[in-house]
Amino acid sequence: KYQSLAYNHILEIHKKHLSPVATAFFQKPLLLHQGHMEWLFDSEGNRYLDFFSGIVTVGVGHCHPKVNAAAQKQLSRLWHTSSVFFHPPMHTYAEQLSALLPEPLKVIFLVNSGSEANDLAMQMARAHSNNTDIISFRGAYHGCSPYTLGMTNVMAYKTGLSSGMGCRSTMCPDVFRGPWGGSYCRDSPAQTIRKCSCVPDCCQAKEQYIEQFKDTLNTSVAKSVAGFFAEPIQGVNGIVQYPKGFLKEAFKLVRERGGVCIADEVQTGFGRLGSHFWGFQTHDVMPDIVTMAKGIGNGFPMAAVVTTPEIARSLAKRLLHFNTFGGNPLACAIGSAVLEVIEEEKLQENCQEVGTYMLLKLAKLRDEFDIVGDVRGKGLMIGIEMVQDKMSRQPLPPQEVSQIHEDCKNMGLIVGRGGIFSQTFRIAPPMCITKPEVDFAVEVFRSALIQHMERRAK
Ligand code: PMP
Repeated sequence: KYQSLAYNHILEIHKKHLSPVATAFFQKPLLLHQGHMEWLFDSEGNRYLDFFSGIVTVGVGHCHPKVNAAAQKQLSRLWHTSSVFFHPPMHTYAEQLSALLPEPLKVIFLVNSGSEANDLAMQMARAHSNNTDIISFRGAYHGCSPYTLGMTNVMAYKTGLSSGMGCRSTMCPDVFRGPWGGSYCRDSPAQTIRKCSCVPDCCQAKEQYIEQFKDTLNTSVAKSVAGFFAEPIQGVNGIVQYPKGFLKEAFKLVRERGGVCIADEVQTGFGRLGSHFWGFQTHDVMPDIVTMAKGIGNGFPMAAVVTTPEIARSLAKRLLHFNTFGGNPLACAIGSAVLEVIEEEKLQENCQEVGTYMLLKLAKLRDEFDIVGDVRGKGLMIGIEMVQDKMSRQPLPPQEVSQIHEDCKNMGLIVGRGGIFSQTFRIAPPMCITKPEVDFAVEVFRSALIQHMERRAK
């Protein structure tokens, strides 16, 4: 019955019974019927190259045969039992995942979503430090639950209802849109083509942002802090990279005040950044807690919090953490298959090679078009920030960005959007994409930009 529902009927059902989020993404939402690796197919059989992978989630590819086979095998064996029982998929997975994390990050709590993982990490930080204040960046996205919403500093998600007591925001060290810096104090291959000349004193940027960070810490409750959450590269905020060395210094300052440091690897983990398996490794820092979701299950709902035995004990003194679905056999079997595929298919290496190739191609587009203000990122987590012109860096108005987004889709390319003004295109495809597919995507993007310039000229 579902297969035969007409587009307009689906739209009607959606408007009546479902969340409006889908109708906010594309002007005409896509009705998808099938996915295979980096490809998606709509109800009319049109094919799309998925360069957003269901919001940075389907890391190893849609319906990957090995992941599907593992899920089917587990489905016919045992697909639910709460984590109060032992079952081999959970224990196998715990060993596999912990082997990928450095000492002393060895204790795993399995949950179902990124918001849940960050909720739990907040509780751990407070239980361990005996402090209250949680610091996160302006522009950060850490979840939509009442707890995590306090750390999510993106206007579209702020409800105005009371949430996130004790959460404090601090200035995001965004060297493109913030008051200090230029594009080149970051670690991104796209910098190699053009060094930003419009903003002087780039190298001072880190120090200036650190002063802001200290100011936030010094005005916290009794100058103490429970935890500091940071994404190694911000996703929802439009692939924002911090100045080199910022996180290292920030972690030190937080620890001096008794707080713990949390890396939110929901988007950056599992090899996506290419050079390293975890985003925190690209900053040469060691977090006390790591949260992960999205790519961990290739789209199957699962998430995890990994911490030290010491922090796990601090939590256990306060509460017995329980989660009905967390660590269920099906999720764990899928999680194991995902880790195996990443290794067998050398997907981290592919992110590095194909991601760098794409960044360099996109950097050429940036130099060609005045409305492409910045190209940044690492591996297969890339941002293209759209501006009215390079000199002013004023964001391109949302309706213009939306039209370019729609035009890309109509030419068979799906990308995401992000940033405070929704001004940045986000590229985070399944990690298996190839260079010819990048060539196709860049050409689609170029055509969309040309169409846009022609519209503007009229
Ligand atoms: N952290 C980050 C960095 C995210 O991008 C997201 C989701 N966009 C979350 C946490 C929340 O994850 P979930 O939607 O699974 O609750």
